Amino acid sequence: MTKAIFSVPNITCETVKTYGPESPERLEVQKEYDQMMKKVLNLPMIINGKKITSSNKKPISPPHNHKHIVAYCHYGSKKEVKLAIATCMNKKESWKNTPWDQRCAIFLKAAELLAGPYRQKMNAATMVNQSKNIYQAEIDASCELIDFLKFNVKFLTEIYQKQPESSIGVWNKMEYRPLEGFIYAITPFNFTSIAANLCLAPVLMGNTVVWKPSDNQTYSAKIIMDLLKDAGLPDGVINMVHCKPEDANKVIFEHSDFGGIHFTGSTKVFQSIWKEIGKNISKYKSYPRIVGETGGKDFIIAHKSAEINEVVTAIIRGGFEYQGQKCSAASRIYLPKSKWKKIEKKLISEMQTIKVGDPRDFSNFVNAVIHNRSFENLKSTILKAKKDKKTQIIYGGGFNKSVGYFIEPTIILTSDPNYDTMERELFGPIVTIYLYKDEDFEKTLKIIDNSSDYALTGSIFAKNRNIIIQASKSLENSAGNFYINDKPTGAVVSQQPFGGSRSSGTNDKAGSYLNLLRWTSPRTIKETFVPPKNYRYPFLKENN
Ligand code: NAD
Repeated sequence: MTKAIFSVPNITCETVKTYGPESPERLEVQKEYDQMMKKVLNLPMIINGKKITSSNKKPISPPHNHKHIVAYCHYGSKKEVKLAIATCMNKKESWKNTPWDQRCAIFLKAAELLAGPYRQKMNAATMVNQSKNIYQAEIDASCELIDFLKFNVKFLTEIYQKQPESSIGVWNKMEYRPLEGFIYAITPFNFTSIAANLCLAPVLMGNTVVWKPSDNQTYSAKIIMDLLKDAGLPDGVINMVHCKPEDANKVIFEHSDFGGIHFTGSTKVFQSIWKEIGKNISKYKSYPRIVGETGGKDFIIAHKSAEINEVVTAIIRGGFEYQGQKCSAASRIYLPKSKWKKIEKKLISEMQTIKVGDPRDFSNFVNAVIHNRSFENLKSTILKAKKDKKTQIIYGGGFNKSVGYFIEPTIILTSDPNYDTMERELFGPIVTIYLYKDEDFEKTLKIIDNSSDYALTGSIFAKNRNIIIQASKSLENSAGNFYINDKPTGAVVSQQPFGGSRSSGTNDKAGSYLNLLRWTSPRTIKETFVPPKNYRYPFLKENN
């Protein structure tokens, strides 16, 4: 038992390493990467700390070199999902009763291990598995995950410290219990840090988790499990299964102990999950928490007062970093006609310097898209845009999957603000630009607000303060993360809590205390020191 009210160490965001030529971090990550490309790993399921293998093995290949096998992932079925749930329920009591400072110590230790000995392993695995260049891997798999691990500790203490008022003779307390039952974490391919945090946020609050990673992130998922084991997370607190989503759904969403879902992925999948939960609502002991961050159709609008180089940089970084496969990636751009010629000239000349290829070559800014399905979807979008009278491809439009799933960064110019690629989430390196008449700025803000089901991220570029005020107001509900004179990507834990509403999700703001609140069911406790000994209030006395 603790005999003090501890404060947690001072917490700051992890510094991003530069990976310049000959830097120690560059040499180290290249060595890790080369070793990973030479080996063939086994990726078992991990339930109660045990490695569970199966005869149903699927090869794992880097998206930029899809004929090369780096691992075999072992797939289970309903049986393993049931085992994972039973383990969660068995381990729940001991984990929730682990003192909060000890839970936090495991997280802080994991953060330090990741900042040190695990850093280049985690980065290299993310480069191999998800085709991120080193900078994208560093800001995701190392820095963002370290920040999640550390800041969640800080947020937990802030939540635990929130206590109700007490009157004389009474002590009121609020206890932040974990949810009853188990939590199901379903994670996307595109961020190693998100995959980890969807499990870790509930776990820190005392919950146990069944984790189903994306089929396209199982390689770096293994390193997450190794890291957490090394940090001392007890076996069975997170149980990782690989299986068909339908198999897991069938078992989990019909289970009376299903306590909540922490999901990040596409809108369609989230909506189908919500329906399934609704259908089974009478089967559960408690109302399950449903937390989901989903798709986006993120915008940049530039006013005529904007600085051209700043707009161009935001389009390139916001639209094409990690091949546009960020939920926050800028994919619909609204530019004033009067500035277009100058913007176009600069944009095209900058685009011509972008190299596309394998992340092992550090000069490549853009790497491969995640899988064949995505490649084919993007290819058909490009082919359709090439034929359409309303569009013109002003840069790129190439694709090649002979070695890896490479799509050339592509810019479409359209005369129709409701053109397919201005509204549909593509999740690839394709940006569509619509030019508005300068005098139609206000009308264009309305188009932005009305032409997408999503409301995740967006940016306004302007120097004129009144314009910034006007856009911030008109686009109040168009984005959960709104940027002024900055690209709409790159949210940092604790600095820009992340999430959107409308079809983009439940807006539970990962990277802030708000997300942790979803994984607790508070209990109010009132203790009266000298309880009354008879029921009669003074008003009951009759007049003399
Ligand atoms: P996805 O929806 O294809 O898959 C996400 C996860 O859901 C995977 O683990 C997958 O196996 C699982 N899944 C698929 N079908 C399922 C079903 N029927 N039932 C249960 N689980 C199922 O998404 P993805 O391609 O991995 O990731 C890209 C999507 O994620 C994009 O739409 C992107 O916008 C979104 N995303 C959103 C955020 C955010 O914070 N808003 C962050 C990252 C990614």
